Amino acid sequence: MTRITFLGTGTSHGIPVIGCTCPVCRSSDPHDTRWRSSVLIERGGTAAVIDTGYEFRLQALRAGIMHLDGVLYTHQHSDHLMGLDDLRVFTEKEKLPVYGLESVLSAIERIFPYAFSEMQYKGVPRLRPAAVEERKPFRVGEIVFTAIPVLHGCMRIAGYRFGSAAYITDVSDMLFEENAGSLRGIRTLIIGALRDKPHWSHFTFDQAVEAGRRIGAEQLYFTHINHATMHSDIERRYAPYARPAYDTLTLEVEDE
Ligand SMILES: [Zn+2]
Ligand SMILES: [Zn+2]
Ligand SMILES: [Zn+2]
Repeated sequence: MTRITFLGTGTSHGIPVIGCTCPVCRSSDPHDTRWRSSVLIERGGTAAVIDTGYEFRLQALRAGIMHLDGVLYTHQHSDHLMGLDDLRVFTEKEKLPVYGLESVLSAIERIFPYAFSEMQYKGVPRLRPAAVEERKPFRVGEIVFTAIPVLHGCMRIAGYRFGSAAYITDVSDMLFEENAGSLRGIRTLIIGALRDKPHWSHFTFDQAVEAGRRIGAEQLYFTHINHATMHSDIERRYAPYARPAYDTLTLEVEDE
């Protein structure tokens, strides 16, 4: 079994949005508080996170993360990346491998050159870039991941499959034809779904459901949700097939 913990399920602003007085941002339901999107994936003694947004430190403390075997990046947008400095506690003994598409890793190395430099200042995170190929499985400890390329507006980024589950956020085109083989057999799909109103670089809830059905997934979880919709409304409208994930939600999924 592989365990998934949602560290954050919000869009780039984080919910509540600074200065916003909308019903979701003022909601007393804790499910409506959405930190920047990220997940912790654990199997046996292996632990990996996908993305490290602004709240990574708080998320790691909340989830009680004691060690990491690797970090996977979907893309270099700041809401998925800017917690990178707080990885340093996991890099004191040895360099921590950072996985991603070549294009994503080279952007991250430009943003945080000191974390990848040979001439390292004391106290900086010590990261080792590990470029992955699209649709080619790679191993992080006991977990086998596969990068699934998708479009996020005009950017080609990665979602990650592991066993019978996949985490695909910030997506506006699943590239169904070229990904057919890698999408087959996904039973639990965690998918970015921003809101109801169409957006150029993110799926709406309906588009995410349509993608899930096309893949043949049995269960969907929406993530990267903005502040236009209450958690309870999404649950009422889309459950049981699709449910809004929420921060701290934990799932157990079959390995294949
Ligand atoms: Zn994002
Ligand atoms: Zn709001
Ligand atoms: Zn993005």
